[in-house]
Amino acid sequence: MRLKDKVAMVTGGGRGIGETTCIRFAEEGAKVVVVDMNGEDIKSVVGKIKSFGGEATGMQVDVTDRVQVEKMVAETVKKYSKLDILVNNAGITADTKLVKMTEEQWDKVINVNLKGVFNCGQAAARVMSEQGYGVILNASSIVGIYGNFGQTNYAATKWGVIGMAKTWAKELGSKGIRVNAVAPGFIMTPMTEKMPEKVLDMMKEKSPLKTLGYPEDIANAYVYLASDEAKFITGAVLSVDGGVVL
Ligand code: NAP
Repeated sequence: MRLKDKVAMVTGGGRGIGETTCIRFAEEGAKVVVVDMNGEDIKSVVGKIKSFGGEATGMQVDVTDRVQVEKMVAETVKKYSKLDILVNNAGITADTKLVKMTEEQWDKVINVNLKGVFNCGQAAARVMSEQGYGVILNASSIVGIYGNFGQTNYAATKWGVIGMAKTWAKELGSKGIRVNAVAPGFIMTPMTEKMPEKVLDMMKEKSPLKTLGYPEDIANAYVYLASDEAKFITGAVLSVDGGVVL
């Protein structure tokens, strides 16, 4: 087991990539804190983990709320005595072309995808610095690296979380904390189900592998980066995109 006895927190763990990451982490022996806003989804993921004998606890938290985030980290440390791994996975979209984007659409996406990552990263880093060990993984996207039509707000945040990962890698390395970002391509989750079939078909065709990605493809990358197998990797951006950008 590659994450045996590690305590791992996954934001947006209720569905999609986050759900699969929680399950893969538990399969690898981690005690998992499933963080989401949707209580039913949390219950379902915790139930799935417990059904195969894994350890998980759910926390209903809005990552944009600093008070809730502080409490979430404090409760984790109270329950499990430490926090080894944070996956900053919670993220949203509100797409439209630049000329049509409203201030609300901009603020909403910035708030979850950037402020949420800052809030959770800061709270976790304080605990990890004290314990002298930790791994923080930020969910970026190929959209953050290459941009995408109709995603000004989302692209800004996904480039932003790479900047945070590199900055934190520099600030926290001496405390035994590694920080990396993962940049998924198009992955079949409830987020991408909103995209037109035409766009998904185009993405599939563009990949040299002729396939879209699945949540386990990203979850497996998180498992690797969270594990001690990646002990010399920090400040990196791992693209997991089926080569769609080539
Ligand atoms: P998803 O299916 O939409 O799931 C996102 C999860 O985040 C949901 O469970 C959602 O909870 C939760 N969430 C949203 N706002 C939150 C908040 N303020 N506080 C706590 N939880 C919150 O998304 P996904 O496709 O799995 O994507 C996961 C991450 O990977 C995102 O950061 C996304 O940007 C990134 N990514 C995805 C793709 C892709 O193709 N799917 C590609 C590149 C990057 P609710 O159910 O309550 O809304």
